[in-house]
Order: sequence, then structure tokens, then C-alpha cells
Amino acid sequence: MLVDNTSLVSVADFKRVFDEQRKNSHKIALTDAKERIEKLKRMQDYIMSHLEEIEKVMYKDFRKPAVEVQVAEVYSVTSEIKFACNNLKRWMKPQRVPTPIGLIGTYNYIKHEPKGNVLIISPWNYPFSLAIKPLVAAVAAGNVVMLKPSELTPHTSGFIKNMIEELFPQNEVAVFEGEVEVATELLKLPFNHIFFTGMPTVGKVVMRAAAEYLASVTLELGGKSPNIIDETADVKKAAYATAWSKCFNNGQTCIAVDYVMIHTSQKEAFIGAYREAIQQMLNPESKGIEQSESYARIVNRRHFRRVKSYIEDALEKGAEIELGGKMIEAENFIEPTVLTGVHDDMQIMQEEIFGPVLPIITYEQKEEVVAYINGKEKPLALYIQSKNPQNIDYFLNNTRAGDSVINDLMLQFSHPELPFGGVNNSGIGKANGFFGFKEMSNLRGVSKRQFGAMKFLYPPYHEKVKRIVDLIVKYF
Ligand code: NAD
Repeated sequence: MLVDNTSLVSVADFKRVFDEQRKNSHKIALTDAKERIEKLKRMQDYIMSHLEEIEKVMYKDFRKPAVEVQVAEVYSVTSEIKFACNNLKRWMKPQRVPTPIGLIGTYNYIKHEPKGNVLIISPWNYPFSLAIKPLVAAVAAGNVVMLKPSELTPHTSGFIKNMIEELFPQNEVAVFEGEVEVATELLKLPFNHIFFTGMPTVGKVVMRAAAEYLASVTLELGGKSPNIIDETADVKKAAYATAWSKCFNNGQTCIAVDYVMIHTSQKEAFIGAYREAIQQMLNPESKGIEQSESYARIVNRRHFRRVKSYIEDALEKGAEIELGGKMIEAENFIEPTVLTGVHDDMQIMQEEIFGPVLPIITYEQKEEVVAYINGKEKPLALYIQSKNPQNIDYFLNNTRAGDSVINDLMLQFSHPELPFGGVNNSGIGKANGFFGFKEMSNLRGVSKRQFGAMKFLYPPYHEKVKRIVDLIVKYF
């Protein structure tokens, strides 16, 4: 028996629901765009009529400010639903491809068909949107889904469960709450596709489990995303944007700036502007940042202690605090903190920080930046702040990353026409808009013979056949 937040569930339940979904998957696969759009619209209506409750559950989970809930949890889902509804008919249409000369007489197209049984495992940091956005893509693509939300944000997970139970029969979409053990058991089932969002180490567990049934995977992972600020950058703008990125959701965003690499000439101005930004955003009346209603908390004690230990380890090894440093354990509160004098022997430069702490590294030559970044795993996001087009091209062309934003931060997640996701250690596969739909679909190539045949290639291979093949190889 495994403890679900609301009931006791047994492993046999997972198998039963999985089998029921598998049986139903053929029917769901045959639904047309209109029927799928109806389901998406019902999700939209449910969300719009439960806005207050959504805010409440996330405030209970980690004091997420209402505005951040609206922007990053609600709007990111409702805009994805609207985009899917507006485009689904087109996405589902067979996509004709040109016919090469050697295949004259055929008509060729790509058919997006559902993968079938999909498992979604989601994290706690955007506990609503990172569970529901992939669900939107899966439903749009005609799949059946089992969803396991994060155990670290139980109020939101409970809300998701109620929402899905109200909107879908269990043999189409089912939610299983619970600890890691629930995910472990679900991963034993022969899903056709697994969409996982979380840490790279857990991504490896998921991929190993997927290998058992050769299920395809989408892995939306994390890592250390750098923000490069060169000698030409508008340093005040860069500092304000970086402070926002580090404080939004308390820095617990996969695409938050993890660390800054700044040209030495800009360092002091950057720290001054960062201090000013924090004051204006979170402490305008000087009552203390801990009083701000615009500042969430670290999700739980374990993560609070993890981030705290990175700061302590860095300070022991010679880093200096330029700003912040205050921590209140009882509240899982960490003040926005800036560290300089950091190096790679420190945990803070080895692990994804996932908290409001910003290490700053300085550089003189742009080649140092590229060498440093390329010496590490490819990041989920790489940011460039610069007014110099040559520098921008240099940083963009000489590094690899999931996505990039130039002269701003974190925009990539909200553009439905940009593929969102990492590369290798930061992820496999892409989400958002059509890319999410594609990820949840099998691209079936269909070639339909309308006239003629490949007879000229049939054996026996005498001279005439050889001459035809020679011509094809040479000229087509
Ligand atoms: P996590 O990997 O600890 O947990 C994610 C989910 O996996 C949870 O539902 C959890 O129960 C489950 N899980 C944990 N350990 C498991 C195991 N051994 N076997 C099976 N399932 C397991 O991640 P988290 O702490 O919830 O989220 C933070 C991480 O997610 C960060 O690394 C962050 O960068 C990343 N992230 C990435 C994206 C993205 O879109 N690329 C978005 C948000 C978060």
C-alpha cells in the first residue's frame, strides 16, 4: 500500500487504471479536433472559475505571491490552452511533403498520431503549470494520461486531483498523488511516453525506467544557467532583471539566472544597481524584506538547509557577501544574497542553486567566458546582456544551451512558438505550443502510391536495372 494524500492506493490500482486507460486509448486517439478543443475549454473554464482557490493553495504551499501565481501558473496554462485551441485543427491535419522525382506517382504526408499511454511526473516549483501544461499538450494530441504531481506542494497537488476528477473520467486522465514511491511504481508500467520535469539526477532514473519498454521521453531538467553581462551592457537594466529573476518564486525557477559572469569593469556598478533593485522591489518602505508580500519562501526545510549550506560552504572557502545573507529557518526565509570571490571548489558553483542567492564571477576576455561555460554541462538557459552585436554573436555561436534570451531574462518560457527545453544534462525534447503537441505525438510518415510502381527495381538485376540505378545515384 502507498499513501496517497487523500487515500490509500495500492500498486494494483495503478495497473488497473493503466489497463483501463490502455483500453480507452484507441477511442481517445480517434477524437477529432472539435472534441479535444471542448476538453481543453472545459479545463480553461475550470481554471478561470477557481482562480482564488489556485492562489490560496500555492500561498499555503510556499507563500507564492498572487501576482506570481497569476503570471506563471495561471496565465502560462490558459495561454497554452488558447494557443492549442486556435491551432489544433491545423496541427492535426496531415502535413503534405513534396514528392522526390524517384517517388513519382506517390502522395506523401506526415500524420500526427497520439503516442497512447502517457505518464507525466511534475515538480513543485511551478506545481500547477508544470503539471497542467504538459497535460494540455497530451490531451490536444489525443493521449490518455496518468499524472503524478509533486509531494512537496500538497495543497496544489490536491487541487489538481480534484480538478482532474471533475473534468475527466479515470480511464482518460488520472492523478496519483504521493511520494517518490508512487512515481517509482508508476514507472514500472509500460507507458508509451513519459514527460518528466525535475532534476537531472532523477531524469536519469526516469530514462532508465523508460528503457525497459523503450518508451519515448521528454525530460525537462535543470542545471546552472549563466547570465553573461559584457562591458557594453546596460548594467542597471541587467541588474534589475537579474534581481527579478532571482527573487521571482524565490529563485526557484529552472530558467532563473543561476550565476552571473560579468566584465570586471561593470562589477561595482552591477552590485550597486542590484542592491537598489532589491530595495525597490522588496523593501520600498524599509520594513524588512521578510515583511514583503511579493517574496515567496524556500519550499521546505530540507531545501532551506540545502541553500543555506551552499552559502556557508562558500563563505568558509573564501567567498564574500556583498548583499543580504540574513536567514530565518523557522520561515524558510533567505534574504536575496550576492556572493563574490566564488570558485569551482565551492558547492554553490557545482550545484543548481534554486534559491535567491547570486554568485558573481568576473572576466576580462570573452574567451574566458566561453571556456568556463563550455567546461560545464550545457545549461537550460544562457543569457546575454550586451549592446555589442559581435559579442552577442560570439557568445551565442560558441556555446550550446536549451534556450537563450538577449538583453532580458526568462522570456523564452512564455513564447508559444519557441521550443522550450534543455539539451543533454538540462533536458531532452521540447515543450510549448506545437512543440509540446509534437512531443506527445508519433510522427507517422505515410506514402500513398497513386500510380506507377517500383517495378524497374525488381529482380532479376540485369543490365537495364543497373543502368537505372546508376542514373538515380548520379543525378537524383
Ligand atoms: P525532483 O526531480 O526532485 O522531483 C520531480 C518529480 O519527480 C516529483 O514529482 C518527485 O516525486 C519525482 N521524483 C523524485 N525522485 C524520484 C525518483 N527517484 N524516482 C521517480 N520519481 C522521482 O525535482 P523538484 O525538486 O521537484 O524540482 C526541481 C528541479 O526541477 C530543478 O532541477 C529544476 O531546474 C527542474 N525544473 C525543470 C524545469 C524545466 O522545465 N526544464 C521546470 C521546473 C523545474
